[in-house]
Amino acid sequence: MVNDVVIVGAGPVGLFLACELALAGVRPEVLDRLPARSGAQKANGLVGQVIRLLDHRGLHQPISGAPGAPQPVPRFVFGAFPLELHRLDPNPLYAVPVPQHRIEEVLEQRARELGVTVRRGCEVTGFTQDPSGVTVDYQDPDGEGQLHARYLVGADGGRSTVRKLAGIGFPGVTSPDPVSRIAHVRPPEGARLTEDGDVLLPGCPIPFRPFTHTRTEHGVFVLAPFNPEAVMVATMEWGGPPADEETPLTLDELRASIRRVTGADLELVPAPTAGPFTPRRQAGHNTRLAERYRQGRVLLVGDAAHVHAATGGPGLNLGLQDAANLGWKLAAELRGWAPPGLLDSYHRERHPIGERVFMHSQAQLALMAPGPGTTALRALFGELLSHEDNLGRIAALMAGSDIRYDTDCPHPLAGRFAPDLALSTANGPVRLAELTRGGRPLLLDLTGGQDPDHAAGWTDRVDAVAADCAEPPAGALLLRPDGYVVWASAVGEPDPDGLRRALRTWFGDPRA
Ligand SMILES: Cc1cc2nc3c(=O)[nH]c(=O)nc-3n(C[C@H](O)[C@H](O)[C@H](O)COP(=O)(O)OP(=O)(O)OC[C@H]3O[C@@H](n4cnc5c(N)ncnc54)[C@H](O)[C@@H]3O)c2cc1C
Repeated sequence: MVNDVVIVGAGPVGLFLACELALAGVRPEVLDRLPARSGAQKANGLVGQVIRLLDHRGLHQPISGAPGAPQPVPRFVFGAFPLELHRLDPNPLYAVPVPQHRIEEVLEQRARELGVTVRRGCEVTGFTQDPSGVTVDYQDPDGEGQLHARYLVGADGGRSTVRKLAGIGFPGVTSPDPVSRIAHVRPPEGARLTEDGDVLLPGCPIPFRPFTHTRTEHGVFVLAPFNPEAVMVATMEWGGPPADEETPLTLDELRASIRRVTGADLELVPAPTAGPFTPRRQAGHNTRLAERYRQGRVLLVGDAAHVHAATGGPGLNLGLQDAANLGWKLAAELRGWAPPGLLDSYHRERHPIGERVFMHSQAQLALMAPGPGTTALRALFGELLSHEDNLGRIAALMAGSDIRYDTDCPHPLAGRFAPDLALSTANGPVRLAELTRGGRPLLLDLTGGQDPDHAAGWTDRVDAVAADCAEPPAGALLLRPDGYVVWASAVGEPDPDGLRRALRTWFGDPRA
């Protein structure tokens, strides 16, 4: 039997890609070498446009636990600069605190509901590809085996076997700095809250804003009081002796690090309850980006395509949006309606966004490093951030919304993620995000000016909805399944030729 797609890796990105393919009518098989979902401490939040994408699939509520539309965050942090995002209108940055294991749980459940097979304890060890497909070698508890697929996707993390076997280069930076130390402890004796809500440590003149990175001349300190019994404390240091990742972190080592970074000598006592952070040390960082996201019938998504420091939490914003970009294009290819070049547009669109994250994660580390040069640079950067347009640029950079995909449509919404709009349809009030649960392309007529016959040849692939909107930003919009607008007409100017061109460019020839 030949599978349509084998996905290597049942991490969040592989699972979400499986959901996207299944929604588009393709049955992927997901293989993971781990016998059960990993409990490793990784992400503790989602940041950026991905939250709006998950809302488009009805996954925001189960993942965040919050009902209704996602809300932007009033504050965030960039390179240990507090970002006062409430000053922005609109504010593009969304964030949801949620542990990675919960995200994976929700995505796996959704994938299984959609009929996806997830095979655990199954490690991919090799593959060969020819013009018609890929033969995948694996090892599972029953021994060695082979699978055949038309496409293979490596969603197998930063050390991706698929990327290495495909011979795809992974250039970038590996640095022994910074060394991060983190633990979950009782609120330290002597730490006190100021009226402004900052934390003062004994012997240290610098106030620390909870839940955010604060730079001193000797490193970075974070204190996050998750509950009255337990706080997360963390440090980042540069230029120390090489850290041995094999030796477990002790609270004494963390205490010495806090002393070096802040000057405060805090007695650290383990938290009475198990918290999200067991003591952990991470030495250095890797920032790398795959040269190509596609090699014939093999594609890369998520950490297999890019790794970077976790500062600011950009990993899942990048990886899950890769999956949404790839999913519908691969499905279109398999279902036979993809226009020429559609699958190659995956690399063309997503690689530049990987480059943006490469740039800003490196920039954030540089802004946090010790030394008088950095202090001067921070003074300048802080001045620039006090201007709202610069603040907005940094927020859009973090959101991953500062790149406009190429379309040949001049409307300002084209190439951008669709705005969420409050709509009224024949079936009642609805948000735009609620019209895209099924992951199909959508033609949304907001002014009744669109002749439905113009899209008649594409009704097997494209949903058409007419709706009223109090302040329509366009007469009509054409959305891809990943939420991006590829065509829009000005109110009162229907542009049927532009619409047909966009339908053909993105969704192939009309039915005969
Ligand atoms: C400490 C830490 C904190 C982080 N914090 C954040 C954060 O706050 N926000 C954020 O967005 N991101 C964060 N990240 C990054 C985020 O965790 C990753 O971007 C995310 O895990 C990438 O998902 P993925 O599915 O691409 O890869 P992974 O999660 O690495 O999953 C890859 C899967 O592939 C499987 N696999 C590997 N090789 C094979 C093989 N040969 N055969 C079969 N299966 C294989 C693995 O078992 C694994 O299950 C953090 C990362 C770390 C380490």
